[in-house]
Amino acid sequence: MRIIRGRAPGAASEQRTETFTGTVWADPVLPASDGVTVNNVFFTPCARTHWHHHEHGQLLHVTAGSGLICSEGGEPEAIRAGDSVWVPAGETHWHGGSPDSYMLHLAISLGTTHWSVPVTDAEYRASS
Ligand code: MN
Repeated sequence: MRIIRGRAPGAASEQRTETFTGTVWADPVLPASDGVTVNNVFFTPCARTHWHHHEHGQLLHVTAGSGLICSEGGEPEAIRAGDSVWVPAGETHWHGGSPDSYMLHLAISLGTTHWSVPVTDAEYRASS
């Protein structure tokens, strides 16, 4: 058992650039342990992940603001503080801030994350 007081000891917030569009910061709560990675992720408005999937799935819990999430073949859906999303293993998707709001979510990622191409502005705007 490990009790983590607030965030991973000694960890620093990281600005995410290579697999994200826009300004995104991640704050490690639990660095990869037993195949589980936990981060608080802060998206500025319009910022979002690239398309990706998680080897064993991902649970997202929105703690502040509002954002969008979209699975391949679907339409972007609005999510906001208090909402939780389970993304099953291997389901290609993206998530990010709303056009007019930041989003802070806790991300519990299981297994390896496999990154793909950026979400285009047209794909992102399909929400509005
Ligand atoms: Mn994800």
